[in-house]
Amino acid sequence: MGAERAVIIGASHAGAQLAAHLRREKWAGEIVLIGDEGTLPYQRPPLSKAYLAGTSTLEAMAIRGADFYDKQNIELVDGSVSSIDREARTVTFDSGVTQSYSKLALCTGARTRRLATPGADLAGIHYLRTAADSASLRSAATPGTRVVVVGGGYIGLETAASLRASGLDVTVVEAAERVLERVTAPVVSTFFTRIHREAGVEIRTGALVEEFRGDSRVREVVLAGGDTLPADLVVIGVGIVPNTELAEAAGITVDNGIVIDDRTRTDDPDIVAAGDCAAYHVARYSRRVRLEGVCAANEHAKVAASTLTGGSATITALPWFWSDQYDLKLQIAGLGTGYDEVVVNGDPERDRDFTCYYLRDGQLIAADCVNRPRDFMTSKKKIAEHSTVELAELIG
Ligand SMILES: Cc1cc2nc3c(=O)[nH]c(=O)nc-3n(C[C@H](O)[C@H](O)[C@H](O)COP(=O)(O)OP(=O)(O)OC[C@H]3O[C@@H](n4cnc5c(N)ncnc54)[C@H](O)[C@@H]3O)c2cc1C
Repeated sequence: MGAERAVIIGASHAGAQLAAHLRREKWAGEIVLIGDEGTLPYQRPPLSKAYLAGTSTLEAMAIRGADFYDKQNIELVDGSVSSIDREARTVTFDSGVTQSYSKLALCTGARTRRLATPGADLAGIHYLRTAADSASLRSAATPGTRVVVVGGGYIGLETAASLRASGLDVTVVEAAERVLERVTAPVVSTFFTRIHREAGVEIRTGALVEEFRGDSRVREVVLAGGDTLPADLVVIGVGIVPNTELAEAAGITVDNGIVIDDRTRTDDPDIVAAGDCAAYHVARYSRRVRLEGVCAANEHAKVAASTLTGGSATITALPWFWSDQYDLKLQIAGLGTGYDEVVVNGDPERDRDFTCYYLRDGQLIAADCVNRPRDFMTSKKKIAEHSTVELAELIG
């Protein structure tokens, strides 16, 4: 057999970091990093923030410069993989070309969930996942444009903030009774609704989109109940779907994500998975989750490199996330679902900084910290410790 070859499918946060960590872990064989976006691996978070606002460039967002891959002898291949043959240990590209591997990493990430609402394919309707999506949205967002953002999750709200800061007329339409309903307590939703309204964004909750209407392009958004919103531009941010089809077709276990263990191994000993496409059992919360965030992708990548080079590192980092809107930095420690008590430190009805703590059985399980980096750091520690916390510790 020839030299060992690690093949990584997906060249974004997880894939690019894995390639770099493999060299750090002294992987001596070849590394082939396959991406299908035609760019150097880049940071995705600015796509709804600085890049959308026009204050960053793709070059500045590169995870590493081109010379890094040259120096580290990491081969970047532009192409889309359409199948995996685990017996032959090969992957096949759309073009029909095959590539053999000794170890394989699935870092295929996720794609936007599409709406099947009538009119959803009209021109002027955008989704946001890639640099190309963000660039096309930015060039369409000319002064005076009326934008409707469908979806009041983090991506929708960040997009609304960036477009509003660029002077556009923005309405957010959310089907649930409050924004960020899936991920935060009501107090946090109320806070972000206030902040956006103060910035001049209209927020419509409990509003279901029934149809997009237009001629050659979208002109209005029709809500259930008959209200219509004029729209020159629509951005849909209603969640993502993990790219698991390749794994599934290869017979690898998939259950809302490619199932991995705490060393990122799939049920094939030579195949690991990392990032948004992977689901694993988080010991702190005693359940399997698929995290959608850069921090998890980085952690998985580090552990996957250890696994592929015979090490024994495990995923230990507590899940954490962030979101930037206007002058606000929200840092989220842990997973808040399943809380039975919420404790707020600060005055979210008036101020622009506060922390919302989520408890279960007296233990801190998560915290949303707005412009409170110190609370974020101490929360991470307390959550990981599993210890019962006193109220005074949180609001003192
Ligand atoms: C607008 C936006 C803002 C965000 N903001 C934040 C934030 O503030 N904080 C945060 O923590 N996270 C944020 N995220 C989420 C974060 O970007 C993702 O968690 C991260 O990109 C996951 O990295 P990944 O490598 O697992 O997957 P992805 O970034 O999805 O990358 C997967 C790559 O694999 C490629 N691929 C898939 N299938 C194939 C195939 N068959 N062949 C070849 N290539 C393939 C895809 O095209 C893609 O390039 C944001 C995401 C978006 C879209």
